[in-house]
Amino acid sequence: MDAVGAFRERFGGEPEGVWSAPGRVNLIGEHTDYNGGLALPIALPHRTYAAASPRGDRVLRVTSVQTGDVVEVSLDEVGPGTVGGWSAYVAGVPWALAQAGYAVGGLDVAVDGRVPLGAGLSSSAALECAVGAAISDLNGLGLLESDDARAVLVSACRRAENDIAGAPTGGMDQSASLLCRPDHALLLDCRDGATEHVPFGIGAAGLVLLVIDTKAHHALVDGQYGARRAACESAAATLGVETLREIAIGDLEGALSRLPDEVERRRVRHVVTEIDRVTATVAALRRGEYAEVGHLFDASHVSLRDDYEVSCPELDVAVAAARDAGALGARMTGGGFGAPPLRSCRPTRWRRSSGVWNRHTAEGGSARRSASRSSPAGAPTAIRRRRDASEGRGGGGVGRAARLAARDRTPGYTNAAYRVLVAASAQVRPLGSAPPLSML
Ligand code: ADP
Ligand code: MG
Repeated sequence: MDAVGAFRERFGGEPEGVWSAPGRVNLIGEHTDYNGGLALPIALPHRTYAAASPRGDRVLRVTSVQTGDVVEVSLDEVGPGTVGGWSAYVAGVPWALAQAGYAVGGLDVAVDGRVPLGAGLSSSAALECAVGAAISDLNGLGLLESDDARAVLVSACRRAENDIAGAPTGGMDQSASLLCRPDHALLLDCRDGATEHVPFGIGAAGLVLLVIDTKAHHALVDGQYGARRAACESAAATLGVETLREIAIGDLEGALSRLPDEVERRRVRHVVTEIDRVTATVAALRRGEYAEVGHLFDASHVSLRDDYEVSCPELDVAVAAARDAGALGARMTGGGFGAPPLRSCRPTRWRRSSGVWNRHTAEGGSARRSASRSSPAGAPTAIRRRRDASEGRGGGGVGRAARLAARDRTPGYTNAAYRVLVAASAQVRPLGSAPPLSML
C-alpha cells in the first residue's frame, strides 16, 4: 500500500495531492552543529510521501502506512506535551506554522515513509517536511517557492520535532530535506544557518556512495551526548570563545596548550579539525578531486574514533572492510554509537565463484581475493549487498537501489530492516510537489 491507497482506505475519497520529502545523510561534519560549525548533508533518493486533502474544520487526521493507525486531533489542542507517539511529528508542523503566524486549516493526511525509520537517515525530518509541503500548498502559504521561503518551513519542521515530538535535534535534517538540490550537497553553517549548494556530481565521475547499516544497536547513553557537548562548552569557556567554531585551524595547537584537561583537548581537536575537513571537502568537491574527499572521510573517521570516541567496534570493522574492498574513503556518519558508516568508492561489480569474490573495477581491471581472508568479520554482508545493488547498473541503477531498499523494508520499520543504501548523485532530487506515483 502507498500513501494514496492508505488515504482512500482510511479516509475515503481521493487526496488533493501527494507531496514528498527526502531523508538525508551527512557526508562530513560530525558533532560540529552544536559547536557552531559546518555540516555537509545530501538528500537521499528515499522519501516520505504525504497524500493530503484540506478539511473545512480545525481537525487533523493522520494515518501512516507503517503504523496502520489513524490519529485524530484538534489543531487547537496541539502544544508541547499534548500529542504522543509518531503523530507528534505531524501535528507539530501545523502548530509550528501557526506559531510563526501562518493560518493553517485542518487536513487529512496519509503518509508512507520510504526512508528507513530510526536508521539515522532522518525519516522524522522527511515526515515533517512532506507534511509541511502539503500544508504549505493546501493553505497557499508559498513556502516552497524559494530557499528563503523554505527556510521558514525548515524552522517550523524543526520546532515540530523539538517542541512537540520532544526530540532535541539541530536543524540539519530539515535543511537537507527541504533545501538540497539534485547533484549537490548542502553546506550548512550552523553558526548562522547560512547554506550553500556544493556540486556533488560523483555519478558523472563514475563513483557511488554507499551507506551501510552495521546493525549495531549500541544504546546512545544519554549522558554520552551530553558529556560531549559539556566538554566542548567547558573548553570554549576556558578558551574565552563562544563556540569552538571560533578556533581557527592555525590556532589549534595554541588553543590545545591552554587546555589543562586531556579529554577536552581531544574533543576540541576533533571539532576544530572536523570543521576544517568540511571546508577541505567542499574545496575538493569543487575541484572534482574525489580521492582527496576519500582521504578526508578516512581522517574524519579516525578523529571520531580516537579523539571524540563515538565510534564502536562494528563501525570500525565496517569502515576497515570498505577500505579493504577498494573504497576511496570510509567513515562513520551520524552521531555515533552504532550509526551507519559511509563509504565512497568506484563502482565495482562483484561476482562470486567457488567462495572467491572477483572484483571488476570500473577501469576494466580485475582483482581476485578471498572474502573470508580479506574481510574482517561482519563485513561480507555489506559487500554482498553492495554487489547486489550495483550489479548491472548502467544509468538505471537508481531505481534498482530504491527497489532494493524498499524490498529490504519489513513491516514495523526497525533498524533491522535496513542494510545498505547506494546513493548515486543522480538519485538526489529536490523536494517537489506531487511526484509521479510511478516513482514509487
Ligand atoms: P530517523 O529520523 O533517523 O529515522 P528518529 O528517531 O528521529 O529516527 O525518527 C523516527 C521516528 O519518526 C519513528 O519512530 C516515528 O515515530 C516517526 N516516523 C518517521 N516516519 C514515519 C512514518 N512513515 N510513519 C510513522 N512514523 C514515522
Ligand atoms: Mg530523526
